[in-house]
Amino acid sequence: MRLRKSRIPRWFGHTAISLPPWVTLVDGKRLATMTPERQYRLMRHERYHWYQYEKLGFWRCYLGYIYWWFRYQGWTRAGYLLNPREIEARDYASDYGFG
Ligand SMILES: [Zn+2]
Repeated sequence: MRLRKSRIPRWFGHTAISLPPWVTLVDGKRLATMTPERQYRLMRHERYHWYQYEKLGFWRCYLGYIYWWFRYQGWTRAGYLLNPREIEARDYASDYGFG
């Protein structure tokens, strides 16, 4: 996972956005406001998106994400939360035994 500081995630209401195989954009200012545990969980979440990319390959990763994004209206907060790819990443991120 390649990290780069950027304001772009903030435009979409996020702290980080992963675009494997290229980069994970992280809003450093927003990240700095988080507790270390939350930061750790976020990095696990983003790393999981890279794992999804490795598992699914480029087309299934991106076309699948776009499909779910439209199906659940991912431009809304509720739709983002319902996207199965995001649910999977959140489950993985929060399942590390001490949180
Ligand atoms: Zn995500």
